[in-house]
Amino acid sequence: MTEERPVAIALTDITRRFTAGGTLALDGASLTLRAGEVFGIVGRSGAGKSTLIRTVNLLERPDAGRVEVLGQDMLALDDAGLRAARRGMGMVFQHFNLHSRRTVAENIAFPLEIAGMPRDQRRARVAELLPLVGLEAKRDAYPAQLSGGQQQRVGIARALASGPPILLCDEATSALDPETTRDILALIRDLRDRLDLTVLLITHEMAVVKAICDRVAVMEAGRIIEQGRVFDVFTRPEHPTTRSFVAEVIGLGVPAGSLARLPAPRPGSARRLAQVVFTGPHASRPVVSEASRDFGLDLNIVSGRVDEIAGEPFGIMTLAAYGPAPALEAAFDWMRGLGLTVTELDA
Ligand code: ADP
Repeated sequence: MTEERPVAIALTDITRRFTAGGTLALDGASLTLRAGEVFGIVGRSGAGKSTLIRTVNLLERPDAGRVEVLGQDMLALDDAGLRAARRGMGMVFQHFNLHSRRTVAENIAFPLEIAGMPRDQRRARVAELLPLVGLEAKRDAYPAQLSGGQQQRVGIARALASGPPILLCDEATSALDPETTRDILALIRDLRDRLDLTVLLITHEMAVVKAICDRVAVMEAGRIIEQGRVFDVFTRPEHPTTRSFVAEVIGLGVPAGSLARLPAPRPGSARRLAQVVFTGPHASRPVVSEASRDFGLDLNIVSGRVDEIAGEPFGIMTLAAYGPAPALEAAFDWMRGLGLTVTELDA
């Protein structure tokens, strides 16, 4: 993914208040998506994610701000222009929103029917879409005969029926079990690669972001509080809310029992607990033994693991460090100087 691809979606200073005098559902939110990227918006319930994604295709009209999609000023379009622009943006929903009395093929063809495409062309298009989502064998089944994952595959095929360059996913995997979630996320990523889609998704689960997103924005109270490359946000989260999201996926909880078992510091010595994230050129340097030798510390590894985000490896470790307070300070500064992220925890 290069930064040179054209802007696909630009939201600028979007404001939305649902009730006069009520709180702002969106409070000056701005985002820019480049063509071909998978961009995630993560936030707790009520943060404004759904309102923001629905602003892209103007299912919600903002009170103020600019909405540009594929270079078009969405707020300047007339009804016909808006209908045409929406055909360039497929949308996938949490609860699939399928017609129960229509077969898989008929559900997928539905937007094409609305758009006035003749029957034989619709059939041909559906025949192309079914294998794309792995549902050839379910062509004539009804939604009630399908698993949740299969129903969402229908939803995805329907969203892609008119060949849109943009896919909007509104909590697309939130109604699915973890294994099916993995399948559907892999499918979305695969479709992005094969069809060169730009994907904007909203989710309350950081695991979804970790699984498929290139970049992420974190929302709280109608604002975007942090955004960046997924690897950077996971390894160097800045805002406390982002840290708590990241901790749900990669954090190393320190069991109370292991804390209680840590030896107390000797007289004249202090004990500090720190989480160290290893990334970059020094990720595999023997930092623990070097710090222990060069700063005269005792270092106790409380927990640790190596993981991978967006294909890049990183390590995360919780250390209990013992030694004179100035030496502890100097050792943490030295680690930070190597580009490691050191966050002190309450000991
Ligand atoms: P999220 O998708 O992050 O859960 P929403 O965008 O659904 O957040 O909601 C943001 C805020 O706007 C919430 O306080 C919610 O109650 C409010 N809100 C959303 N839709 C409406 C609506 N149609 N009418 C009134 N308030 C709404």
